[in-house]
Amino acid sequence: MPHSIALVGIGKIARDQHIPAIAGNADFTLSATASRNAEVGGITAYRSLADLLQAAPDITCVSLATPPQVRYGDARRALEAGRHVMLEKPPGATLSEVQALERLAAEKGVTLFATWHSRHAASVAATRDWLADRKIQRLHIDWREDVRHWHPGQDWIWEAGGLGVFDPGINALSVLTAILPEPVHLQKATLSFPANRDTPVAVDLTFEPLGDAPITAAFDWLEQGPPKWNIHIDTDAGNAILSEGGARLTIDGHETSAGEDQEYPALYARFAELIAAGTREVDLSPMTHVADAFTLGRRVITAPFEW
Ligand code: NAP
Repeated sequence: MPHSIALVGIGKIARDQHIPAIAGNADFTLSATASRNAEVGGITAYRSLADLLQAAPDITCVSLATPPQVRYGDARRALEAGRHVMLEKPPGATLSEVQALERLAAEKGVTLFATWHSRHAASVAATRDWLADRKIQRLHIDWREDVRHWHPGQDWIWEAGGLGVFDPGINALSVLTAILPEPVHLQKATLSFPANRDTPVAVDLTFEPLGDAPITAAFDWLEQGPPKWNIHIDTDAGNAILSEGGARLTIDGHETSAGEDQEYPALYARFAELIAAGTREVDLSPMTHVADAFTLGRRVITAPFEW
């Protein structure tokens, strides 16, 4: 019997990825949605998760695709009602609220899955394996995109808790924390805030060197033209570029790994595995780097941002 699942927050990522991924996974049936303004044709629609949970006790799983600022309340509601919960990235607005959710899920004996979709990009595992027996000499993340193209009209990303350029940048950090052979911590950060916004438009990060190897990142939301979602890695035995957000690995000029986008199908497959195993998966390491950048970072005020 497939799990009956509800999807909350019918917006861009719900339509682009969650709905097709659920439709393609025999372990789940999309039984209802909760969204203040939107519906999915043919699926029972509620205006709030509270109404849905009360009306549909047979729904055992809830996937939250709302912005991070409103994720905690719904996640808590669903866990208290004994449902398994899957969280979009970033898993919440603060580290401690996600830790509270993890404790609640454990108390209730249900699954909580904090997803990092970019970790499932086609060449992330190949990069981790390639690095396992090499010495990194330098690693630089270059993550640049045009916010007006990728997030048109999404005001929540500019509001406190919306992360600004860390919204895409945390994808890079989720890959970094998956491929490095050992953890690093942040040493220095510069965050550029538009004068009229609460979240940064550009960020430079310097991590503790790995041995002698500098580990740095630059995120920029005002890139014109095609996005650059690349990680450059020099090692003692070859230089690699993990590009297109983790989809392609090129080593010394030769493409060695590539594949089609299966990130969201992989997330739902993992959710089904965690439910079957009766376990949880909540890795806060990408979000810890972001929180550290806000704590440690030097603040620079830049030109106001208008859509
Ligand atoms: P979105 O389209 O702006 O928002 C999703 C939906 O959430 C909205 O349509 C809205 O539906 C609902 N919502 C509930 N409370 C809201 C509030 N206070 N402000 C705005 N919307 C609210 O966002 P999205 O791009 O899908 O992103 C949602 C999450 O997925 C984010 O955490 C993001 O980082 C992640 N994500 C996005 C992408 C992407 O390409 N866009 C990719 C990967 C992950 P109702 O008005 O009907 O309630």
